[in-house]
Amino acid sequence: MGNIKNIFYKLNYLRFYFSFLFVIFFISANPATGQISANQITSIKWENNSLVINTTQKITYAESRLKEPERLVIDILNCSFQNKGLEKRFKSELEEDITVSEPTTGQIRIIFLGSASMNRKSYLTNNERTLITKIARINTDEEKKIFENEQQSSLEKYVPGFLKEINIEEEDHETEVVISTTKSIKYNTYTLKNPDRLAIDLLNIIPPKDPLPKYMATQLVSGVRVGRAASNIDATRVVIDLSRENLDCDVDSTLLGNKLKIKFKINKEKEEIVKKSGIKIVIDPGHGGYDTGASYGGFEEKAVNLIIAEKLKKILEDSGITVFLTRDDDSFLSLAERVEITHSIRPNVFISIHGNALKTSRGIRGVETYYWNSQSQKLAYYIHKSILSHLTIPDHFIRRARFYVIHHTSSPAVLAELGFLSNHDDRKLLTNSTTQDQYAKALSEAILKFLDLDTESKPEVKSKKQEEQKLKEKKNE
Ligand SMILES: [Zn+2]
Repeated sequence: MGNIKNIFYKLNYLRFYFSFLFVIFFISANPATGQISANQITSIKWENNSLVINTTQKITYAESRLKEPERLVIDILNCSFQNKGLEKRFKSELEEDITVSEPTTGQIRIIFLGSASMNRKSYLTNNERTLITKIARINTDEEKKIFENEQQSSLEKYVPGFLKEINIEEEDHETEVVISTTKSIKYNTYTLKNPDRLAIDLLNIIPPKDPLPKYMATQLVSGVRVGRAASNIDATRVVIDLSRENLDCDVDSTLLGNKLKIKFKINKEKEEIVKKSGIKIVIDPGHGGYDTGASYGGFEEKAVNLIIAEKLKKILEDSGITVFLTRDDDSFLSLAERVEITHSIRPNVFISIHGNALKTSRGIRGVETYYWNSQSQKLAYYIHKSILSHLTIPDHFIRRARFYVIHHTSSPAVLAELGFLSNHDDRKLLTNSTTQDQYAKALSEAILKFLDLDTESKPEVKSKKQEEQKLKEKKNE
């Protein structure tokens, strides 16, 4: 198989230099419009017997050698002059008539016209934004002969091939597109967004005379379009419309001769990142300002709540989730204001963080987790269990209660009483930085699990355990 390329992140476009005739490079895309944005020429210089053209983007060009009169024509695709003043016509000291013009909008044509005893070679520099055409006099007859032979063979190669057919097959959530032509394929791929699509320029291949049949959409590919890559160049552009983002694209032409095989599959990792970036969570550190909450042993609940909320925020943000705090300093916020903030954000999860207290029985300790509506029950369960598994603290039960912030919030909402500030042991857990970290970790894991985002190998471990269990059972039989 060819090399795997993630088409949206690290597509390595391939370059093919073949004979003298065609070299077409990556065309960059304008993601805002989805159009191929035009490249622009910023400068044209003649130095050391070379024409040096600089552009703003990577250059895609095709060259052809024409006879009577002997000349080299280079077309730069999707390209214009940055200003009209750049248009150039001059005679070089080698008696070459050189013209750089824009005969059709968005297409630059360079013509080198001179004697037959000239060798003209074009190449791109490493950044592909500079095109250099070097001109040298062919000195001896022998050199001239070699050059003419070279030219002859390249003229033979110039006969373009046809695009024969395109087949699309779907198997196991993968879609394979196979492009068949009458000649071996040199190609270039590039991706475009809004909508997502992969474009493939087949060089020295012309589109079929009759339109290709319409294709049935697959899970990943919504359509295929075929056309000429540019008006006066023999290259076919195949555009594959993708029905979703984050597809891996594997382009394989190595073993197939006149076929190009493109395999699309979902990149689960990238999909997870995108999924996470769309998730919003509101953390509500209880109390604040003159409302200190519970206050024992020199610690105020409002401060403990904020510290743990901020630690939780950091963990969730590090995993790519967008997090909002109802307050990020010691300011007073009414319950209605907290609900209003949450309502404007419409988060996937709302969690209010509190510390408990019972003045009359200081011996009472443990975690209490509250929810109101049924959609929050599972979240409450995950949060509760996660805290119990991360910290050595008694289970003070999951409870259903009509607390204002969870009752008035339409998102899955939980109020967690992480421990009793009035109890000596719980207070230690709530006020120590290490155990505060454990609380934050426990809460983040529970939230990710609730959102079906726990990508860590937990399910695998589970299934392994289950397998081991099965094996044990079999042995026992
Ligand atoms: Zn409280």
